[in-house]
Amino acid sequence: MNVTLDSIAASVKQQLKRMSDSGCSFGDARFYDEDRGEALTLYDGNLETNYGELERGVGVRVLKDGAWGFAATADLSAIASAFDTALANARAATLLPGFPKDMGKAQPAKGRYRPPVERDPFEVPMSEKLGLLSAIDAKLKDPSVAHRFVNARFQRRKIYYWNSDGTEVDRHVLNTFATMQVMAPDAQGRTQRRSMDLFCGGDGTRGYEWLTRPDAFSAHAERIKTELGQIVAADPMPAGRRDVILLPGQGHLQVHETIGHALELDRILGYELSFAGGSHVRLEHIGSLRYGSDKLNCRAGITANSPGTFGFDDEGSPQRDYYLIHKGILVNVLSSRTDLAEANAKAGRMVVKESGTAARACAFYRTPIDRMTNINIDPGPDGTLEDIVQATENGVVLDVPVSWSIGSNREHFHFGCEIGWEVKDGKRTRVLKNSTYHGHTLEFWNSLDKVGSQATWCMMQVPNCGKGEPNQVMELGHGIPVMRFRNVETGEKE
Ligand SMILES: [Zn+2]
Repeated sequence: MNVTLDSIAASVKQQLKRMSDSGCSFGDARFYDEDRGEALTLYDGNLETNYGELERGVGVRVLKDGAWGFAATADLSAIASAFDTALANARAATLLPGFPKDMGKAQPAKGRYRPPVERDPFEVPMSEKLGLLSAIDAKLKDPSVAHRFVNARFQRRKIYYWNSDGTEVDRHVLNTFATMQVMAPDAQGRTQRRSMDLFCGGDGTRGYEWLTRPDAFSAHAERIKTELGQIVAADPMPAGRRDVILLPGQGHLQVHETIGHALELDRILGYELSFAGGSHVRLEHIGSLRYGSDKLNCRAGITANSPGTFGFDDEGSPQRDYYLIHKGILVNVLSSRTDLAEANAKAGRMVVKESGTAARACAFYRTPIDRMTNINIDPGPDGTLEDIVQATENGVVLDVPVSWSIGSNREHFHFGCEIGWEVKDGKRTRVLKNSTYHGHTLEFWNSLDKVGSQATWCMMQVPNCGKGEPNQVMELGHGIPVMRFRNVETGEKE
């Protein structure tokens, strides 16, 4: 059988009609015409990883009597039997206890999404990619550096989506990720490290051209090498309370772990308890919980060149840009259509009005779950990093996580950072190693008192957020300004 996009579309529509005639209240299909990945790593100058993957297939869902059934196949001539399997799975699932699912009504969406790309990394010759990484590796090489690596990862997906509402969406995904790192032991034999991820400003492109921009990546090689030397020679952070100034390299993890994951509606409803954990947020908190100070404005944003921007989610809903936390108050959560009816019924009032367009699956053979998109903090009125440092008597500037430990309900956290710069009387003084800080999520965000301007705002990329069972690794972004938190517990007591 000659399988074309037209024949797949015709088959899917025919099956969606058949499922509707069989009593299904909703059905959908995602056809991944291409799901391609590549990873290249140079470790101490040697090519350690040259990894490529290519997948193609269809995943289908049906909702029958309040229960989901899912099936997937890489055999594009077997779409009808995939729907049969999904229907059988839904019928089996109706026998299990659980809140009946209801997708509600939605306007059919039609459209396509193409990410801003000047140069497709999969069209770039391997020799050119390795040449770029080798040139960066050469800059990282130094007698003071014990080990070093530089890697780049690329993704390209071509996805078609249809559902029983009449939605038809065609979208491409293209992402470029890169990291470089240097490592060396300190006098106590503990490995110290300094690293740098490719980042972007928020309004550019996201193809290979971004990786070749020196200001976004390669020009930082000399800096991280110099800073590693400073860290190795540094004193450990003395324990005590001080103000903490987070650069975006650390602030994005703070947002990811203590806002992003905590606000996923499926977690709040308890569906992730057995694997990823729960949330301290309860349904009745939506609309009233003081999550942070008035300076905290957090949104599920749409930022052109971030991996958390995809045009339409995996339920076909056009991606929306909306506040999660506005002037410190929790106003919304990360949701899909799937759980809205349950959340509102359990809350006893309308707490989530419409889909947060956060339904995302990592592959054609996984079902969409509630995921972060771009969880961004709006820039604030408090100027540059230097302005914030000048206004700080006793503090520390922190960058890039080395360790993290978070309560299963995201209610408290403990982070270690690659580097700290002590701040005394408005000036950065010495570099500190083994920098750590910890706190309670709400107390910490309520101590946010300075938020840097747009000039301090960086779009950080996360290529590897894990969630779900079986695990789904997802890519997303965090647009983050410099932020200061007052009187935080830092360092480890001897
Ligand atoms: Zn995560």
